[in-house]
Amino acid sequence: MTVSTTEQELPAHVGVLVVGTGFAGIATAAALLRAGRRDFVLLERAGSVGGTWRDNSYPGCACDVPSRLYSLSFAPNPDWTRAFSTQPEIKAYLERTAREQGVLPYCRFDADLEQARWDDNAQHWVVTTSRGTLTADAIVAGTGGLSNPKLPDITGIDSFAGTMFHSAQWRHDHDLTGERVAVIGTGASAIQFVPQIRRTAGHVTVFQRTAPWVLPRRDRAISRLERALYRRVPALMRLPRFGIYALHELYLYAYAYQQRILPLAEREAKRHIARAIPDPELRDKVTPTFRLGCKRTLLSNDYYPALAQPNVDVETNRIVEVLPHGVVTESADGGRTVHEVDTIVLGTGFAITDQPIGHHIVGRDGRNLAEHWAATGMQALHGTTVAGFPNWFHLMGPHTGQGHTSAVFMIEQQVGYTMQALAELQKPDVAALEPTPEAVRRFVGTVDRRMTRTVWARGGCSSWYQDDHGRITTLWPTFTFLYKRQVATFPVADYVVHAPRRADIAA
Ligand code: NAP
Repeated sequence: MTVSTTEQELPAHVGVLVVGTGFAGIATAAALLRAGRRDFVLLERAGSVGGTWRDNSYPGCACDVPSRLYSLSFAPNPDWTRAFSTQPEIKAYLERTAREQGVLPYCRFDADLEQARWDDNAQHWVVTTSRGTLTADAIVAGTGGLSNPKLPDITGIDSFAGTMFHSAQWRHDHDLTGERVAVIGTGASAIQFVPQIRRTAGHVTVFQRTAPWVLPRRDRAISRLERALYRRVPALMRLPRFGIYALHELYLYAYAYQQRILPLAEREAKRHIARAIPDPELRDKVTPTFRLGCKRTLLSNDYYPALAQPNVDVETNRIVEVLPHGVVTESADGGRTVHEVDTIVLGTGFAITDQPIGHHIVGRDGRNLAEHWAATGMQALHGTTVAGFPNWFHLMGPHTGQGHTSAVFMIEQQVGYTMQALAELQKPDVAALEPTPEAVRRFVGTVDRRMTRTVWARGGCSSWYQDDHGRITTLWPTFTFLYKRQVATFPVADYVVHAPRRADIAA
């Protein structure tokens, strides 16, 4: 079902402006409603809710975290049909949750945030959108890390005369049947769509820069009986959810504390390759050379079998150029090969360490968040609040991503933290809150220190977890229950609390 665009105008002023209607935006809006607040709207640049699960509709798109855990705790879903749900089911779940939680009337669709500027005199944000302007006491950014496709900077790529698109902007109107297709990238998205497109494509060349670790996906259908049981006794869903959560925290133990365990998983992954790929040369090509976990570990049962098909090639030579009719690679001895193709599909990921929304958010000193972070690296207290950006709450901000469990879990902890801050802001003597630079430094220092012993730092890979300086700014470095404990109480002492200006008090 598609949720239609609401035509309601933007209000002139809101207490809280929520940006985005993915998991983070919907969780925030539902929490605001539970707290009895009605003075908010959600800005959504697209025409419906769903965030990354609306935008990514490539063939085979599914979640690699079990749905029982990859869902909102206050909206358990008895109707998941598989252990690992597909994108249409997750998108439908988000649409249904937004409707059932009463969030939809607060959504303003086709409203792109163009700029938010903190007005220090008025102590609120002045927000310009593609649908008009408004002011907001506080902004909660639920814009996610995976919202802006990253296009590769390859010589001549703009000259390509065939069809080219990114996996997050799938051209469903373009039929790949019989075509020669180039796939650039072998990340979480590509390994899901390659097995699908190779079924009808004439030939697929997968351009692999780094071989990822891929483990079997222990998927299963959830029977009608099981679903009926969950519908009748929703509390039963808590047990598998907790079990899956606990199991994923054990993965963290290996990634962050006991990397000696990881070769066991590597052995399993190599057996997975051997079972699907008889050709030793291809096996070598797809066997990773870094420690498992350093880049996101992928789950798939059909990727390696797809690579072994006669209409699929894996190309590991470096791409040096794109010509109007093909992709040029260069081997170690300088030999160039032109791979003639009709279509290029870019599975090249997203702009994550340079969060695009940062360019649109102007803080107290007139600098935007991107400039602020360019100087310091991405930094936020508990991954959520930024010095110099009062009343700004950044969900999935720096250090809140994970390489081992459900992002939804972290989002919900951040929403809880943000709700406490918003309650502070409702006190008559509080107009604005921002973390002290010292508190941010302390938090980031602790995270950085912990990060040094993790596989993400030591595993011998480069990944999108790292920024341009090699610093890991995206991940939480330890157990997620420790994050939960850390943000359970709002640390007012770590904040500069700005009282209302005199004129406001008089008013
Ligand atoms: P990604 O993991 O960042 O992978 C991008 C791929 O493109 C990598 O293989 C990368 O190679 C390659 N690449 C990038 N630029 C290139 C260039 N100029 N030349 C050649 N190759 C290039 O992106 P993604 O697959 O879209 O996944 C992004 C994130 O989305 C995932 O990590 C995950 O968090 C999320 N995701 C989740 C699911 C899920 O099931 N929950 C599904 C899809 C995506 P290198 O490895 O060498 O950099």
